Amino acid sequence: MRNVKVAIWGFGAMGSGMARMLLKKKGVEIVGVCDTRPNIAGREIHEILGMERRDHKAVIVQADSEKLFTERCCDVVLCATDSFTKSAFPKLKFCLEKKLNVISTAEEMSFPQAQNPELAAELDKIAKANGVSILGTGINPGLIMDLLVIIMTGCMVDVEHLEAKRVNSLSPFGPTVMHEQGVGFTVDAFEKAVKDGTMAGHVGFHESVGMIAKALGWKVDKFEQQMKPIVTKVDRKSPHGFAKAGDVAGVNMTGQGYVDGTVKIDMIHPQQIEPEMEGTFTGDYVTIKGTPPINLANKPEVEGGLGTIAMCVNMIPQIINATPGLKTMIDLPVPHAIMGDFRDQIQVELK
Ligand code: NAD
Repeated sequence: MRNVKVAIWGFGAMGSGMARMLLKKKGVEIVGVCDTRPNIAGREIHEILGMERRDHKAVIVQADSEKLFTERCCDVVLCATDSFTKSAFPKLKFCLEKKLNVISTAEEMSFPQAQNPELAAELDKIAKANGVSILGTGINPGLIMDLLVIIMTGCMVDVEHLEAKRVNSLSPFGPTVMHEQGVGFTVDAFEKAVKDGTMAGHVGFHESVGMIAKALGWKVDKFEQQMKPIVTKVDRKSPHGFAKAGDVAGVNMTGQGYVDGTVKIDMIHPQQIEPEMEGTFTGDYVTIKGTPPINLANKPEVEGGLGTIAMCVNMIPQIINATPGLKTMIDLPVPHAIMGDFRDQIQVELK
């Protein structure tokens, strides 16, 4: 069997990390990369990544997606450009119409049925018409605050209430994330941004709640979320962020999914730079009330960047093997690392 052919759309932190991971794996090759950033477009990916090329073909970053993504040019496109279904939609549609399977990092694409049911239905229709499939995944949403929670209910007879909590550090992230999460804002500026809807915070609670409810057979009749500033008592500094004492070091996000008028799903996600400076330690927690109860703790947190990169790469066989249409993490076989040859995991004929 020939190698599994992968193309990457968006060669930022996630896309370039996926390339780095893929280049070390067996039975898989990168056949194209698309990014419009002038400092990388036109350059060879191994040179950008500082990796030896060995027997891998040279891959030049192409700015023009129309030229790169031709019909059946690859088995799967890893699309790491967007957060929202609406903004990702034209790119995803374009790939599906070229008969290419797609894995998207867009947070809302993890369960687009939650906030964009019409676009989700359209993607499903286009994918089916072209005989390919599409999946949104990542660390969160995609695993920690949804699929992991769902998997743990597999050993439960009865579920009363679920709580997913991810305490993480924003220190490794760049300037965009600092701004989106309010790091360095005054409390007044933070409150104003929340009020006028410009504070991004974490994207994905609505999707995670929707995915959990769908899996358990619950209907969410109300969803709410809140963003509160994490005000620091000491000056905190990370490579790309600074919050002085009295200002905002991050955002404490909470969300609730109501079923039959009561909160059945709680999401808790405080994110800040240098949490340890005030005694907060990172971790991922799943607490489920029911029979038997679940108390899962992973300390420190799973690193978000590497986790997302791995989830997308490791789901490549599942999306290639899938029946056509829009898929979510609850529709496909479980994610797992691939230490052998990618081709051994492919159950369909590669055209
Ligand atoms: P990034 O800003 O580092 O990279 C995005 C890249 O996409 C940039 O290089 C940009 O030039 C390129 N790009 C954007 N639009 C393009 C277009 N039309 N054509 C070609 N290139 C284009 O961002 P990142 O950290 O790599 O993250 C990518 C997306 O994935 C973000 O929206 C992020 O929020 C999301 N994400 C999701 C998860 C999750 O857990 N689900 C985790 C990490 C990141």
